[in-house]
Amino acid sequence: MSKDFILETRELVKEFKGFVAVNGVNLGVQRGQIHALIGPNGAGKTTVFNLLTKFLIPTKGQIVFNGNDITAEKPSQVARRGIVRSFQISATFPNLTVMENVRIGLQRATGTSMHFWRSERSLNQLNDKAMDLLDQVDLGSMADLTAVELPYGRKRALEIATTLAMDPELMLLDEPTQGMGHEDVDRVTQLIKKVGANRTILMVEHNMNVVSKIADTISVLQRGQVIAEGPYAVVSQNPQVLEAYMGT
Ligand code: ADP
Repeated sequence: MSKDFILETRELVKEFKGFVAVNGVNLGVQRGQIHALIGPNGAGKTTVFNLLTKFLIPTKGQIVFNGNDITAEKPSQVARRGIVRSFQISATFPNLTVMENVRIGLQRATGTSMHFWRSERSLNQLNDKAMDLLDQVDLGSMADLTAVELPYGRKRALEIATTLAMDPELMLLDEPTQGMGHEDVDRVTQLIKKVGANRTILMVEHNMNVVSKIADTISVLQRGQVIAEGPYAVVSQNPQVLEAYMGT
């Protein structure tokens, strides 16, 4: 059976004034999978993410989402198609409560005016939906704290909740466990696994332990090229990967 790719890049190239940061990348993200993009610093991971969200325009190559060529589309068009990057589009408001942050995300996602939420019924619906999202990320008990009061690890959970509010078809996560202690890393790892059970996630992640636990497929980038792709068990045995990335 052929693979069902939600997103594909074909020979994607990005040059910065002659420097080739992304050099012919073919990525295939399968629907329903958690796909991790790993590689040493400077490998081109962030540049690939910026190309996918259209913050950068590719020098060459194609980006295909659900069978549509989206290479020439604008960031807003790509977001409307359902590609949503966490920790960027869904920036949180530090002085609003956790609940308010998610409600704003939901309001934005539905594109409804503030008027709409004046009726008690629609406001109740909004609150229920927001609470449901908070429960999904285990933040229900912290709904009334302001975002700034949340412990660091829990801020990521809030960002994931506000991203989920957009109901993304493909969720892009940018180093979700960066700067966290063990406990928070474990919590966020479990959260991503749970969220990934019923949607597609592409994540840049440095922590190999995290990747080994939750990624269905891993693409290893080095100097702008994919040097290996597959499940952890395969990729982690690849001699080129061991040499380039694992430092052995
Ligand atoms: P990673 O996310 O894997 O650490 P990046 O995608 O950030 O790697 O960077 C890949 C390479 O491209 C690096 O050598 C970086 O210096 C270079 N680069 C990234 N953005 C720019 C830019 N706007 N102008 C010039 N060089 C850039």
